[in-house]
Amino acid sequence: MACRPRDFVTSPRAGLARGTAFRNPRRGHGSDDRVCRYHRGIVTPVTAVTARAPAKVNLQLAVGPARAHGYHDVVTVYHAVSLFDEVTVFPAERDSVVITGEGADSVPADDTNLAARAVAALLRSVGPGAKDSPGLAIRISKRIPVAAGLAGGSADAAAALVACNELWRTGLSQAELSELAAGIGSDVAFGLVGGTAIGVGRGERVTPALAAGTYHWVLAFATGGLSTAQVYAACDRIRAAQGRAAGSGLVPRGAEGSASRGEAAARGHAAPVKQPGRAARAARAGRPGAAAPPRALALDNRLMAALRSGNPTEVGPLLTNDLQQAAISLRPELRRTLAAGIEHGALAAIVSGSGPTCAYLARDARHAAALAVALAGAGVCRTVVHVVGPVPGASVTSIATEPV
Ligand code: ATP
Repeated sequence: MACRPRDFVTSPRAGLARGTAFRNPRRGHGSDDRVCRYHRGIVTPVTAVTARAPAKVNLQLAVGPARAHGYHDVVTVYHAVSLFDEVTVFPAERDSVVITGEGADSVPADDTNLAARAVAALLRSVGPGAKDSPGLAIRISKRIPVAAGLAGGSADAAAALVACNELWRTGLSQAELSELAAGIGSDVAFGLVGGTAIGVGRGERVTPALAAGTYHWVLAFATGGLSTAQVYAACDRIRAAQGRAAGSGLVPRGAEGSASRGEAAARGHAAPVKQPGRAARAARAGRPGAAAPPRALALDNRLMAALRSGNPTEVGPLLTNDLQQAAISLRPELRRTLAAGIEHGALAAIVSGSGPTCAYLARDARHAAALAVALAGAGVCRTVVHVVGPVPGASVTSIATEPV
């Protein structure tokens, strides 16, 4: 018999809803080395593990200049929302990746898939002996649109890490998984943590933030995606052009302070902005004609205070995204999409990350439902969903003991 309770040790990370998983500590590669689950005196092999991970929106996304290695430093406030991809892993004769659901056709089904890359990174870290079958099957069920600025691929990578950590009982801590995650992609570490969190570096150094309350969002999905690399490149071009214009005196002094309602909507503010000191914010958020942003990357402390209040009315006007103008430059129709949300009463409308998804903050569940209906009827996007945040990061949702 492959699994006998007395031969097995409990995992350092139990985390199972019921029962306990066991693994032979003197394990090798043989078929007698399966991970088993012991519950009420019955021992059964674990045949598959499913984990899910959430999409994110960025409540603040401050982007520094391009660095020599090609990346940009960022300071960001991540916020996980209740739109989840699901990843199932199970032992197989050979490696495979199968993707179903939202945008499945545009996701690579090979070892470049971020979930497969996460699994490879885990195996490199713990040793190939952790894999107790010749191959691993990865099944990804997508609800997060692809290349949408919602970090769907990163969510899949985070879910795959958590699922394999459970399947193979590798027992890596959250901190160890986060370290692996940081090497896979900028948003993967946040996919593990979830909630509301501050990201620095390329976004991969994540610290949970103090935030109160539940926020209701409407997400408007666009047709087609945007390449994150192209959006950053557009951001660099726009800044260079703005810098040249500012240097040659082409930007009129004081022009930064006067924003039309449409422009305010396009950069995530629910009302026109006229106060002094908003010039840098206007430039960061992407109003054409505003001066280039000569500033140090910094967390917006007013946003952090608003998040602690739990009051969406305070949070809404403080949402910012330095990539918004770049996303709009590549997809000008987003300007109308954002404006439609404000016209229908959203507290704020902002491009999510590198876009093209637009995120609208609502007062409460009722308001979000009404806003979703209005936006769906306005014909400014492909589809809308009502989500809440913050939600937890990647977690195991089921452990199968039946043949898959
Ligand atoms: P970013 O995290 O860079 O902002 P995004 O959220 O805009 O990205 P993703 O959905 O993560 O976009 O997809 C980015 C690219 O990654 C896609 O073009 C896709 O080809 C590739 N990719 C690799 N693996 C996955 C995956 N599991 N799910 C989605 N995309 C993936």
